[in-house]
Amino acid sequence: MPAIRLKPARTKSVRNRHPWIFSGAIAEVQGSPEPGATVDVHSSEGAFVARGYYNARSQIRVRILTWDEDEEIVPDFWRDRLQRAMARRKALADNPQTTAYRLAFAESDGLPGLIVDVYGDWLVLQSLTAGIERWKPTLVRLLMELLEPRGIYERSDAAVRAREGLRPTTGPLAGKAPKEELTILENGLRFRVDVRHGQKTGFYLDQRESRCKIGPRCRGREVLDAFCYTGGFGVYALSHGAKSVTSLDASARALQMAEDNVRLNGLCGRSEYMEGNVFQVLRGLCGEGRQFDLVILDPPKFAFSRAQVTRATRGYKDINMLGMRLLRPGGILCTFSCSGLVSPDLFQKVLFGASLDVGRQVRIVERLAQASDHPVLLTFPESGYLKGLVCLVE
Ligand code: SAH
Repeated sequence: MPAIRLKPARTKSVRNRHPWIFSGAIAEVQGSPEPGATVDVHSSEGAFVARGYYNARSQIRVRILTWDEDEEIVPDFWRDRLQRAMARRKALADNPQTTAYRLAFAESDGLPGLIVDVYGDWLVLQSLTAGIERWKPTLVRLLMELLEPRGIYERSDAAVRAREGLRPTTGPLAGKAPKEELTILENGLRFRVDVRHGQKTGFYLDQRESRCKIGPRCRGREVLDAFCYTGGFGVYALSHGAKSVTSLDASARALQMAEDNVRLNGLCGRSEYMEGNVFQVLRGLCGEGRQFDLVILDPPKFAFSRAQVTRATRGYKDINMLGMRLLRPGGILCTFSCSGLVSPDLFQKVLFGASLDVGRQVRIVERLAQASDHPVLLTFPESGYLKGLVCLVE
């Protein structure tokens, strides 16, 4: 088997079970492993440290699959990892009120580079690395056998694939191809999901628990759902008796689906849909003197690299200042950041700066995070990316 030898003093992070080996840690590559091939990782003295898959085209040269020298990377290895991931989600799988969840969350489930989402009778698979590409036929066969879905659809069109030297690919992998729109249940609410063209794999499953926590706070309130996508938060708000919901997004298709989702749940209450850039629209609303009782800000990822963090914090500060201004005294700001590179500490500091600049006193009353089917692996803190603050704005 090909192997890589680490530089002296570069074994510690691997021994501490971090699953990534960057190019700079490697002293020597023995053999000529193809993209995705299994390699052993040796210390500078030649001792076995771990085993993973290799990709010379990626800055992350090796992703570790096992630290056990006796564990071979064969189909049974993948079967075991998938079964463990399934066992971790047993409560969700058994919950008839929720039919969509993340079954495999990459490194956090010992499956680096692999995302598998369940949407009712369908699975959506995202392969992000050369190693997963190599095992994809095996993984598809195992998923068909273990979960017996009607079909598996591939959404390997995430931008990060380019960093592995991979092109985007989408389409059916096994079984039947799903319809253009599937209907899922989340905490008893119905949502249309377009798994073929929607963002991510079709739905922001990572916000399930936050939607559940924010919903009850919306009773009797005028709610602004900025970056609403297909109306996740808005549908919860209306189902909990919000007085009105103003949904705002840049995507006309997402807004159309948000409107469909409100109707699908037979919800009443005033609904308003606004297409546009949140930064501009919020400014406009401030100018008009509009006020809300609860504002939700769930923007897309602003920081994709360390170099972008400063610019991202400016963006967060800007929308949060606008969000605070749009709130009546005593209003609630529910604000999120899904940029992993923006730490919870830094996000809180951004809110602090925003509150000073708008002259409002702000208290954090609840902290939110990604749903539990997106667990944060302690040895891989990078797996924690989504944080939210529920703030009382006076
Ligand atoms: N809250 C949603 C998920 C939001 S994802 C849910 O619970 O499902 C982020 C959304 O922001 C996407 O729908 C994207 O279309 C939208 N978006 C990105 N940049 C935007 C901008 N500048 N103005 C308005 N919407 C934007």
